[in-house]
Amino acid sequence: MENGIQIAIDGPAAAGKSTIAKITASKLGYTYIDTGAMYRALTYKALKEHIDVYDDDALSQLLERIVIELEPTENGQIVRVDGADVTDAIRSQEVTSNVSATAAQPRVREMMVEKQRLLATSKGVVMDGRDIGTAVLPSAELKIYMTASVEERAARRFVENTKRGIDRPLDQLCQDISNRDKADMERVASPLKQASDAILIDTTSMSIEEVADTIIQHAEKRKSR
Ligand code: C5P
Repeated sequence: MENGIQIAIDGPAAAGKSTIAKITASKLGYTYIDTGAMYRALTYKALKEHIDVYDDDALSQLLERIVIELEPTENGQIVRVDGADVTDAIRSQEVTSNVSATAAQPRVREMMVEKQRLLATSKGVVMDGRDIGTAVLPSAELKIYMTASVEERAARRFVENTKRGIDRPLDQLCQDISNRDKADMERVASPLKQASDAILIDTTSMSIEEVADTIIQHAEKRKSR
């Protein structure tokens, strides 16, 4: 894409990053890359192979020998590990509770960042995660830091879970989200934080469409620079 730009979207858990990133990418005709799915895919495989999610050496060796693929389709992104479709499996409670441990391992992060940079070499990408604006694409033309109150994020996740048949009480979801934020913000290797040149969007009282439109307006401004 000739005059496409790189859009980095970061923020805490369940802030709506992937929903918004997907809509934004589709409206702009850009490629969407969900980096959280990559950490989830590694965690899924580690749990399956009984590998300790705090063991950086074992995890990085595992990451070296598996193939993680993200395939965009009409109905959303399909995630594959060694050819097997793990799209739903990587959203399980077990993976969600363990992914922040895997993602805190320095060698794992180094390897993931390398892979993610390769995926974003062409222009016209929307990438979401925790360290996109700070570490993966520090020269992205547009950086967004998306947040919302913990209560709002838990309520949204509750609705999403209900649709998927996942039964987890709201107070438990609040606790899960707070724990994951704490782990992601306090880790030593590229912790979650707002890049100094990122635009902060608090989505607590905004609709999905409003947030996507705000980002697209910023993208249009950046493109015409
Ligand atoms: O975005 P999602 O909630 O699926 O991400 C799952 C986890 O992966 C996060 O809680 C975080 O620990 C990790 N992650 C990360 N860096 C990224 C994307 C995700 O550390 N760029």
